[in-house]
Amino acid sequence: MPDLHYLADPGAAEVARGVGDGLRLLRQHDYLIVCVTNQSGVGRGLFTEDTVHAIHRRLNDRLSTYRAHVDAFYFCPHTPEQNCECRKPGTALFLRAAEDWAIDFRSSAVIGDRAADIEAGSRLGLFTVLVPEVGHETATESELLEKEVHPDVLVSDFGAAAAAVLHRG
Ligand SMILES: [Zn+2]
Repeated sequence: MPDLHYLADPGAAEVARGVGDGLRLLRQHDYLIVCVTNQSGVGRGLFTEDTVHAIHRRLNDRLSTYRAHVDAFYFCPHTPEQNCECRKPGTALFLRAAEDWAIDFRSSAVIGDRAADIEAGSRLGLFTVLVPEVGHETATESELLEKEVHPDVLVSDFGAAAAAVLHRG
């Protein structure tokens, strides 16, 4: 379940370095790819849910050049102040995805670039991989220590993250 980052402008949505190749590799090994994101910009009125959907279509269009594909997108439209259960590190969207797609968490993994991603994955017993450089906002070591977040694996690029998932013990 990679966390892909994007901008509010669908035309500007780009696939971060290594993500296309990494997702293709996982797909070749029969992994279902689910993207779970926090989109508080919707709750703040900065952009609409339609824009989010357009960005998701755009990302899959870009990923097709890598023969990669995100099977399902789930996003939280709320602001932190709304205290919902779906905003990561909340686990509601992961649980919904698991129900929708019959996902077994024991054989799944979370690849993310923020402490909240790892925290959500850990709560569910998922194998967690932190890639601090995937997105624009990086999880700093102090942020991780502060939140007592401990990924199973820490890697520097998405290709290594995909490999870590495939070679997990
Ligand atoms: Zn939410």
